[in-house]
Amino acid sequence: MQERKTGVSKLHGEVSRELFGEVWPNIAANESPITYVTNGIHTCSWLASNLKELYNKYLTSPTNPYWQDKIYLDETWKRIKNIPNKELWDAHLDRKDKLIELIKENTTNRLRRAGVSYEEIREIVGSLSSKDLIIGFARRFATYKRATLIFNDLERITQILNDKEHPVRLVFAGKAHPADKEGQDLIKYIHEISMKPQFRGKIFLLENYNIAMSRYLVSGVDVWLNNPRRPMEASGTSGQKASVNGVINFSVLDGWWAEGYDEYNGWSIGTNDEYSSYNEQDIADSDSIYKTLENKIIPIFFNRPSEKEPSEEWMEIMKQSIITTGGKYSTARMLVDYTEKLYMPLINLYNNNFSELEKAIGYSSWKKHLITNWDNILIEQEKNPENIKIDAGQSIDVKCKVTLPNLRKRDIRVEVYCGRISDDGRVEEVKVVPMELEKEEQEYNRYTYKAKVALSSGGNYGYTFRVMPTHEMLLDSENLNLVKWITN
Ligand SMILES: *Cc1c(COP(=O)(O)O)cnc(C)c1O
Repeated sequence: MQERKTGVSKLHGEVSRELFGEVWPNIAANESPITYVTNGIHTCSWLASNLKELYNKYLTSPTNPYWQDKIYLDETWKRIKNIPNKELWDAHLDRKDKLIELIKENTTNRLRRAGVSYEEIREIVGSLSSKDLIIGFARRFATYKRATLIFNDLERITQILNDKEHPVRLVFAGKAHPADKEGQDLIKYIHEISMKPQFRGKIFLLENYNIAMSRYLVSGVDVWLNNPRRPMEASGTSGQKASVNGVINFSVLDGWWAEGYDEYNGWSIGTNDEYSSYNEQDIADSDSIYKTLENKIIPIFFNRPSEKEPSEEWMEIMKQSIITTGGKYSTARMLVDYTEKLYMPLINLYNNNFSELEKAIGYSSWKKHLITNWDNILIEQEKNPENIKIDAGQSIDVKCKVTLPNLRKRDIRVEVYCGRISDDGRVEEVKVVPMELEKEEQEYNRYTYKAKVALSSGGNYGYTFRVMPTHEMLLDSENLNLVKWITN
């Protein structure tokens, strides 16, 4: 039969197509038959109970009495706007207080065992308060997640964490794989740094990270920090747990956040640039973290009428974050995607075709015949395809002739493959335009195809033609690893 392959976010789909390009040597890597379904979380399992009560009150309507049944619909989440800021903030503070309790208890136990005196411990945990801006980082300590990136410039983070007017606190939790020495060293480093005089009581490291603790963290901090080495995070889900609980994401544009971030629902870290070394990337990304903390996150958070009341702008971002991610990053939406993109096409293919032995055998011999004759396909153009200069908004008419010895025209589709040629000769903004049949010369098995190619911006363009196989029982033609390019 057939199959479909997927990545777990849009970007992960792209990365996987390149990564597995060799599986289909004749297909351009970016066209490898790998699609994506972005991961989501089981919303009601991760939503704190007091927030759930709030959502029960505000997300329902006469036509939608159980908002949980319509989790994947955007219209459900637009109602977040109806929650008064004070009510949402108080629910958040409630979660924050519970987390602070956990941080104090966990830290006390850990430091006691490490031989730190009660007096010192009291000093360390004593000043932590729900008036502080608390930033959370909790996940596996795999090195690509760069748990210690925020300490890349110690002077700068010292300044940020020692501004008495604007108390900012960091809380870390996570586990390293028992065989991952580097990951364990990261934990050790965070412990050591948290004991330095300038960071005491400002950086907290929690032990025994597990799902139960994760619930407190993703609902009790103010900001969820995520700074993996782009593009290594396949999806990541902890940020989705955070946003549904009103915790705002501050993350590298990697995994789900590369598609989830909309400029108004949180903050991004770094750019989509590629770097020549890890070190260079670390410097650029940590610099971006400091700048955004100093210029945006901290000023917005502390621009509040009083210590008990939230900043207006903060609440706007918090609400936008819940609205834009609550439905899209739920397992409810994910299952709709899996059903529509994967399960149904495959089930239909089976029910309509492969369940009949005759048809299955027919398809199999069609495939054999196609492979035997594929190389003899001939594509011609009167003039050779060439680079052309055109103005923005223009379109061009293109034509080619295809000779099909031993194959029928319904076995193939013909396409224009075009793109902008950059100054260094790379092809960018690739577009694949289907061509339509214009003329048949049956005595020669020759067919003329035409297409209109609209090019969006001015510059230097190149185009060429290709033939791909097609059959009603072939789901993704790239899987056959057959493509014929024009050769003249
Ligand atoms: C959600 C979750 C994860 C995954 O976190 P990422 O940030 O996506 O890596 C790992 N561990 C626990 C306990 C979780 O709840």
